[in-house]
Amino acid sequence: MTVIVDLKDLTLEELEALVATYGEPRYRARQLAEWVFKKGVSSFGEMTNLPARLRDYLSGDAMIGRLEIIDSRVSAKGDTVKYLLGLADGNSVETVLMRHDYGRTVCVSTQVGCRMGCRFCASGLGGWVRHLRAGEIYEQLLSVQRASGENVTHVVLMGMGEPLDNYGNTVRFIDNVSAAYGLHLSQRRITLSTCGLVPRIRDLARRDYGLTLAVSLHAPNNELRDILVPVNRKYPLEELIPACVEYARRTGRRVSFEYALLGGINDTPELAMELAGLLAHARGHVNLIPANPVPEYDFTAPTAAAVGTFRRVLEARGIPVSVRREMGADIGAACGQLRRRYRPPRRRE
Ligand code: SAH
Repeated sequence: MTVIVDLKDLTLEELEALVATYGEPRYRARQLAEWVFKKGVSSFGEMTNLPARLRDYLSGDAMIGRLEIIDSRVSAKGDTVKYLLGLADGNSVETVLMRHDYGRTVCVSTQVGCRMGCRFCASGLGGWVRHLRAGEIYEQLLSVQRASGENVTHVVLMGMGEPLDNYGNTVRFIDNVSAAYGLHLSQRRITLSTCGLVPRIRDLARRDYGLTLAVSLHAPNNELRDILVPVNRKYPLEELIPACVEYARRTGRRVSFEYALLGGINDTPELAMELAGLLAHARGHVNLIPANPVPEYDFTAPTAAAVGTFRRVLEARGIPVSVRREMGADIGAACGQLRRRYRPPRRRE
């Protein structure tokens, strides 16, 4: 059986190796990469600057994967659009477009489902099915661009799944999206959010990317974090915080600590004080996320007063704080609301 490769799964070096097997010069790989990653074509026939014999070879060995737009929903304010995108194997993922005055941010998923088990997040509810291939992560951006007619200017790896649990495909995606032959996004416009897989944070630091690392903290002590973010039992705070400090030192980029405020659970002034202590030397920034509702869980959003107090306690102790603006909660597109949806597998021709 011949394996048909999806070209968007490959890096430039791999495309170079592929064209070399056909006896073609290296520069053909870059031309090919531009068709696939920048122009987003879906057929070899459109690649008019490639010789016909190369296109013939490619059509025998390779494909250009697409996602099917199954559904899209626009928030009442019009600033957020959620897409349900179908994968070739019948699975689907959710991807969100956010319209800001400074540009267009797309929130991509990295896995079908999630196996991290955070106790307030919808993404793990349907279980974990599989990793997304690098090309499937990339194609989310092109699908959104095609559907909306708007150019993506920022990417957040904050959709369904844990990006560092799918490390190899995630770094391929980052390499391709930031490359000149791809969307050429500055890495400063890419944010990767993780629940804290310490060895992978250290691997990522060694790649010297300019991206922003966001770490889902949600609790200032192991006792509470063990419950809310179960991966803490494997990588407790005394390992996680030093890995974040090391990340910031190596990359020169401050880490952003995400803290979802769950009403009455982790939003007290005492915990804010403990958090300030934990982060006193981490030189990071705290991004508070008032919890978004997930019907299957019984937590509530924090009161505005609790958010304000939490913020002031941190600021009084010199920790920079921002409160994340809620977008798309009315269409189930806000933080923690993305989930697996079922649909019948696509019928074969
Ligand atoms: N797996 C990665 C990427 C998810 S990003 C991670 O854990 O960081 C989504 C962010 O939203 C994470 O910080 C996540 O913890 C947070 N989140 C999950 N459920 C939420 C909810 N119901 N309300 C607000 N934020 C939530």
